[in-house]
Amino acid sequence: MQAVLEATDLAGGYGPLQVLWGAAIEVGESETVVLLGPNGAGKTTLLKTLVGLLPMRGGEVSFLGRRIERLRADERIRLGISFMTEVGVFSNLSVEENLFLGGYPRSRETIRARAEEFLGLFPDLAMHRRHSAGALSGGQRKMLGVAKALMASPRLVIMDEPSSGLSPLFVGEVVKTLARFRTQGVSFLIAEQNVKFLEIADRVYVLDGGRITFSGTPEQLRADTAIHEAYFGLGGR
Ligand code: ATP
Repeated sequence: MQAVLEATDLAGGYGPLQVLWGAAIEVGESETVVLLGPNGAGKTTLLKTLVGLLPMRGGEVSFLGRRIERLRADERIRLGISFMTEVGVFSNLSVEENLFLGGYPRSRETIRARAEEFLGLFPDLAMHRRHSAGALSGGQRKMLGVAKALMASPRLVIMDEPSSGLSPLFVGEVVKTLARFRTQGVSFLIAEQNVKFLEIADRVYVLDGGRITFSGTPEQLRADTAIHEAYFGLGGR
């Protein structure tokens, strides 16, 4: 399988604080990879370093076989990487405006056509197309975030905790929505604490203390007693 994203030996952090210690991560073509880790493990730091929003202190990052660690964030986006932050949308902009922004750097016609396509797929969003995203429910806002992240037809969508702030019902909805898109030639790298996302994962990494402590399939993760107990609770799933 061709690697869409390949990062090795990543070091990164904030000022004197080093957060990432040699993390390595790979995402294949059409693969959904979940990066699991507790609060403060360094998930957001890892994603922002991959996207170019935080400076790298060491390591290599390749996207579709091309080294990108020296590129600015906007240059990485142009190559086909999309980043959905924890908030995911601009609350003061309308649903439509959020979609249009997500379409950058595509042409105006492509953006309009794709926005209509997404509004057709998400009737809840279509109903509120001219309302500000801040007026949507938490679940609708995340749907908009997912649609916005997919607007520019990226090859890789990197998501920072799409479950944050959502009730379990809406977390299930987001997982279902992602399941609809994961077979359409897009790769996903999803940082999460919520194990519900393992339902759509082809592979999983566990990040702890800025280091990758596990890499394997969701089944292998479930078979790892120590990690299983930490993430799923004793005997739970
Ligand atoms: P969470 O789920 O809580 O967001 P995380 O796994 O995403 O956790 P990070 O947000 O990457 O973890 O944080 C990793 C470490 O870096 C933590 O110790 C955190 O306090 C620290 N940190 C995060 N952002 C900054 C910042 N802007 N300046 C300094 N330290 C930071």
